[in-house]
Amino acid sequence: MTTQPLNLDEIHQLALSCLMQNGADALNAGALANTIMNAERDGSHSHGLFRLPAYVASLRSGKVNGKARPVAKALTPAVISLHGDNGYAPMAHQVGIPALTNAVKTMGIGVLAMTHVHHMAALWPEVEAIAEHNLVGLACTPYMPAVAPAGATKALFGTNPISFAWPRLGKPPVVFDMATAAMAMGEVQIAARDGHTVPLGTGLDAGGNATIDPKAITAGGVLLPFGGHKGSAIAMMVELLAAGLVNENFSFEAKENDNGDGGPPRGGQFILAMSPELIAGDGWEDHCDTFFDRMSTMEGVRMPGARRHKNRLSTAPRNINANLLKTIKDLMRD
Ligand code: NDP
Repeated sequence: MTTQPLNLDEIHQLALSCLMQNGADALNAGALANTIMNAERDGSHSHGLFRLPAYVASLRSGKVNGKARPVAKALTPAVISLHGDNGYAPMAHQVGIPALTNAVKTMGIGVLAMTHVHHMAALWPEVEAIAEHNLVGLACTPYMPAVAPAGATKALFGTNPISFAWPRLGKPPVVFDMATAAMAMGEVQIAARDGHTVPLGTGLDAGGNATIDPKAITAGGVLLPFGGHKGSAIAMMVELLAAGLVNENFSFEAKENDNGDGGPPRGGQFILAMSPELIAGDGWEDHCDTFFDRMSTMEGVRMPGARRHKNRLSTAPRNINANLLKTIKDLMRD
């Protein structure tokens, strides 16, 4: 794979210019360019520049509003409803997360119920933004059908990611962020692009047979949930929280309502925040540190999020796929 080194400013500027040339205003393009740059910074390659062509496709088709002005409204002191104005999720988070964290600092717990957003990014940025306020964050979102419920051979669930961040004083939060599919579709697409196989159990081919060929999964096949029936139940829960509870599209409805432009469908996101200070009380940080110390010093354990947080410290340029850069530059010429 041929790559080209770009520093973080260059990555941000490339994303910003490309989005603005394709219909986003400075606010929306800036929010999304930050998300893209931070994904590349942390080594979340499947959610950085790799997603830019799909973001552009939906701006061009008019499905996504590049000039969105999301509005947050308190339904109760602990429940914030956010209408994303059909824009990309990072713009909506800029409005919704401060409203949520302000509410949780007095209520102890709160929900941000987001509708009319288009989410295609990783989910750790929103829960890390919550953890910066010394709050616990949990987020999830559906997508379009790509994952078969346990026992089935046809897709119903999206890859339905869940992220969780636990704040630590003076240290990065402990964060996990994972698809409830055995593998995120972006990772399967990258494996297909780079000619790699995927582990058995990742998905089925169009005939419903287990396969290690990522192209057989992306071309008419289906992903499987992680962990059999247990992951299937969690993927179902994501549908219920981020579609049933927030009152937005289930994954199957998102597909039925989508224009097929390749970008993310309109959907919802469920975000929960909790205050350990108000719920656990004084001493929660030290108490949890004893747990994290015990866990992280066990032979063979590495803490989730630690890979990204280590990557984040590097000031070196990031190596970007050269074909992808050409595709992006072409999008700025058309
Ligand atoms: P991974 O399986 O790569 O990682 C899942 C989590 O496990 C991460 O927090 C990771 O930490 C941690 N982890 C990985 N390996 C280990 C290990 N050996 N020990 C301990 N922890 C470990 O993620 P997925 O492929 O499932 O998901 C990738 C991304 O795709 C996520 O960011 C997700 O939000 C995104 N996604 C977005 C969708 C959308 O619609 N917006 C849909 C589906 C997925 P670390 O990050 O430090 O490696």
